[in-house]
Amino acid sequence: MKSKTPLTTLDYPCEAWIKNKYLERNKTGEHKLRQLHGKFLLCDGYCFAISSKVVTQCITKSGPVKLSGKITLYTTTQPTKNPKKLLTNKVVRVLLLWLIAFGGCRARQLIKPTPQMDIESNLWIRVLLLDNARACKLMVPSSFAVLNPQTQTTEALFGQVDVAVKVGISAGRIVIADQRFSGAQIIILPDKPYIFNINGDDYRGKLKLILNPDGNSFDVVNVVPPEPYLAGVVGAEMPDYWEPAALAAQAIAARTYCFYIKKKFGSNRTWDVKRTAANQVYLGVSAESAQVWDAVNKTQGQVLVYKQNNSIEALFPAYYSSTCGGHTENSRHVFGDSFGSLVGVPCPYCKDVAKPSFFFWPMAQFDKTNVTDRLLKRYPKLKQLGDITSIRPDKQSNYGKFSRLTLVKLLGSTGKSDFLRAEDLRLTIDPTGRKLRSTICKIIDMGDKWAFLSGRGYGHGVGMCQCGAQAMARQGKTTEQILSYYYPGSKIVRVY
Ligand SMILES: [Zn+2]
Repeated sequence: MKSKTPLTTLDYPCEAWIKNKYLERNKTGEHKLRQLHGKFLLCDGYCFAISSKVVTQCITKSGPVKLSGKITLYTTTQPTKNPKKLLTNKVVRVLLLWLIAFGGCRARQLIKPTPQMDIESNLWIRVLLLDNARACKLMVPSSFAVLNPQTQTTEALFGQVDVAVKVGISAGRIVIADQRFSGAQIIILPDKPYIFNINGDDYRGKLKLILNPDGNSFDVVNVVPPEPYLAGVVGAEMPDYWEPAALAAQAIAARTYCFYIKKKFGSNRTWDVKRTAANQVYLGVSAESAQVWDAVNKTQGQVLVYKQNNSIEALFPAYYSSTCGGHTENSRHVFGDSFGSLVGVPCPYCKDVAKPSFFFWPMAQFDKTNVTDRLLKRYPKLKQLGDITSIRPDKQSNYGKFSRLTLVKLLGSTGKSDFLRAEDLRLTIDPTGRKLRSTICKIIDMGDKWAFLSGRGYGHGVGMCQCGAQAMARQGKTTEQILSYYYPGSKIVRVY
């Protein structure tokens, strides 16, 4: 229950507000200001409340946004920091100008040192932060060393603390603060608390810079122990004020997924996972909170396994998505892979937790020309179809009152046709997934537009339904019960 105590004056960055429950973070890491009348405002930077108890300014990464109307924030708890004195409009304006000039700066929080820095090397997760970068800005709140990854010998020591250092390329070599390094790969190892900031975002562990073969760019990889990695994922993938049992289920699912991906793909490349929803969203230190760390620590080393046909227990990609809409889906129909624990199950739970507009989403419309352009660009094999003139359901999973499209047949102006997985169609037409939220919908030809109607759920629907997990936890179900429900036949094992 929210109290009726409005916030007074705050100049906290959004991160501080999130930790104190004034804001929610959505799936892509943006921040939602909770408005009085149920509307949400997206903000990826700073928000300001001034003396009249209303939020008047929001500084996003692309600049300030003036808020229309009054937004009052409500809270159940007082901030852990002492709110600063009431700011006058003039002071706010000065502060805003300062923030605009130094966008992205924020007060450094007191955070605990990175744990597991001595854990065995095969358990570290390599997260691709930037690929094909030509330059980036590094800032470390401690001294740091530059190491040769093969020999682990120290090639340079940097003693300056919290000073922005330029990392770039010169004559085919990596350069850090005007110092050139001959190796194709180098490791940056911060001293305690083992945290660094790259382009404005804090991460834990080490940083690996990998020169690309052309010598003109480099990849930036965060090499991070498993639990700090998971803290940066769990806090990004689930609101940290959700039930502890749901957060723990999220931690185990995310750990299982990342170790599966690392094992399957990591040996053939210089990184294991991306930091985006292409794998699972990882926001580093900014996603952390006490609740998130509790979920990660109490499940330390725990993953899910299932029994393969040969009776050997194995990891599987424990997919999860926001809101299944009433029934989860078989992985084979969405991703084309097949695992005994990734089959669809009824989910009577998520409707109790999901926002009504997520559970039943409004009609989404897209111009036919745009749809054709996007599909042909993403799937060149479809060029033979010409303009897409018809999108017909070909296969669907029927759940009784509703069904999820799994395969569509595309017809083109040339008379040719082809097939596409419905989930691929969805994310090609709407890569953010914010309008076209799932494939539980009907497709209607509206002349120059395609309309998607009767939509239910948010996300691909495979594996754990996050809103369902929260609803189960609210009913008193344990982490084990949640996971065995959404991943039938799986069991939890501790691997380190
Ligand atoms: Zn569900």
